[in-house]
Amino acid sequence: MCGIVGYIGDQEAFPILIKGLQRLEYRGYDSAGVALHQDAEKTINVFKKKGKVQDLLDYVGDSDTSGTSGIGHTRWATHGPPNDANAHPHTTRLGSLTMIHNGIIENYESLRKSLESNGHSFISDTDTEVLIHLIEEVQDRSSSTICEAIQMALQEVEGAYAIVVMDSAQPDLLVAARKSSPLVIGIGKENEYYVASDATPIIE
Ligand code: GLU
Repeated sequence: MCGIVGYIGDQEAFPILIKGLQRLEYRGYDSAGVALHQDAEKTINVFKKKGKVQDLLDYVGDSDTSGTSGIGHTRWATHGPPNDANAHPHTTRLGSLTMIHNGIIENYESLRKSLESNGHSFISDTDTEVLIHLIEEVQDRSSSTICEAIQMALQEVEGAYAIVVMDSAQPDLLVAARKSSPLVIGIGKENEYYVASDATPIIE
């Protein structure tokens, strides 16, 4: 179970997320990643890499990291080896939903089989990718809002989780949920919100 940091506000999210991930490095981890909402394009850019936060920064290089909302994760692998594909964030088929997750989805195998029989295919070995596909599936079949879909999907899940979800259609929204895994929400100045797996990245 490793690190989560999320930010939504008026500042550029990327430096805040990176600083937050660096503050979470004390926990130990095997890969790191961020997702940023590109406000103008209504798309979510994902950068993720096996290794340290510095490896992620080297990989990002001069890429466009603009955006005032985003999520970042340091992974401690439980489902699938440490590699780029298994690093978080994970995204749905058409890239509409993106998620980071701490914890373990215990019934992920049966959920994965049922989703595969409905046409879903997976690019990672993780329980996390299964959960974000499940949320998308529930949203599609119930025509519900993203918050409702997350609540419904989590009824089908056994295990421990802290998750933060981004929806490409809603740049002003981060949805967080938790069960048996810690998650802290911080309110900053003037419409700034933070979410993190402990207070270390947001205390400042
Ligand atoms: N179970 C997830 C994975 O293996 C999350 C691990 C974590 O808490 O960092 O990717």
